[in-house]
Amino acid sequence: MSWAVAVLRASRRVSSAGANFPCPGMAVSPHGAARVPLRGTWLCTPAANIATVKGELLKSFAAEGPVRNNKVSIIGTGSVGMACAISILLKGLSDELALVDLDEGRMKGETMDLQHGSPFVKMPTIACSKDYSVTACSNLVIITAGARQEKGETRLNLVQRNVAIFKSMISSIIQYSPHCKMIIVSNPVDILTYVAWKLSTFPKNRVIGSGCNLDTARFRFLIGQKLGIHSESCHGWVLGEHGDSSVPVWSGVNIAGVPLKNLNAAIGTDKDPEQWGNVHKDVIASAYEIIKMKGYTNWAIGLSVADLTESILKNLRRTHPVSTIIKGLYGVNEEVFLSVPCILGENGITHIIKIKLTHEEEARLTKSAKTLWEIQKELKL
Ligand code: NAD
Repeated sequence: MSWAVAVLRASRRVSSAGANFPCPGMAVSPHGAARVPLRGTWLCTPAANIATVKGELLKSFAAEGPVRNNKVSIIGTGSVGMACAISILLKGLSDELALVDLDEGRMKGETMDLQHGSPFVKMPTIACSKDYSVTACSNLVIITAGARQEKGETRLNLVQRNVAIFKSMISSIIQYSPHCKMIIVSNPVDILTYVAWKLSTFPKNRVIGSGCNLDTARFRFLIGQKLGIHSESCHGWVLGEHGDSSVPVWSGVNIAGVPLKNLNAAIGTDKDPEQWGNVHKDVIASAYEIIKMKGYTNWAIGLSVADLTESILKNLRRTHPVSTIIKGLYGVNEEVFLSVPCILGENGITHIIKIKLTHEEEARLTKSAKTLWEIQKELKL
């Protein structure tokens, strides 16, 4: 089976120190000690003295050195994990993709299906396994595994079910990729980002929650719909908790540098005759609405995670509303993760933009932090 070949290749890596630990871009030759680059070694070659098509076709020209690897692993091959995978593949961001799921049938089926698209995209090596060794030496690990939000269920209700899953998952991830960055997508994302940070003991810059990246995309899309302007040209941020208590920063919404608040001082408030506040209400309602109609949300979150991935793998240093520890900011004194505008690059989050909030916006952020802390402090990690 083709997935097995990929898994075999990935699991045969050894470190440059010779330890039985994976090293980026290297695979052990099936002939023995010589190490050959992973990329381009499509099949396990039989013994050298037997004539093969490969042996007849290819003449060795130069020894291949180590290949710098931009490996991404995705944990969870459900609807969100696969939307992340296809979005990353179509953007050509990674040269190796590893997929992990407990549900072996689904995982292998999804992997084979993606592999068969290889002629149509600049496809990296795709491997899958229930065993986390397949993720070894990832640059970035994206966590989408977990219990799914049920119809009408709040994200916070999901927390306890997902903490148990995270316990085993995080220890396996850090065992094989001790230097990776992690993006947490599973809900409730802000709390699970805190859980992943605590369990991993990684520095805070390397544990990133997808947070309000999706909420902000929805906000910009809906503003664009109201104005007849493409969402890319509609600038605005949704911060705080991903979900029900997120905070729209109306004071910063602008088109081409023109603040909408200068045109409508009451924008986003109850006194606004145009009721722009409904845009944010629709942002909150949209996840519930989509889940009611199709059972889950996946495309927009997949695309938004690929956007974060691009900033990290290409060290773009773009700003994104992602979830990070905000202790010490906006009057928050606890280890709470909420979305604020962050600069993302190959070191993960390197800076937070000191966004000026109105008193009301800050009060809403502090309230979210309190709500999350009430839950977090009860968690047994
Ligand atoms: P899904 O049920 O389709 O997929 C989840 C996958 O995780 C399943 O394939 C399951 O087998 C796997 N899984 C469960 N436990 C596992 C474990 N211990 N190890 C490995 N794999 C495991 O769900 P989905 O629709 O893909 O959603 C995934 C998560 O993403 C949910 O928590 C959902 O709420 C969240 N989500 C977040 C956002 C966001 O903006 N942050 C948006 C949409 C969905």
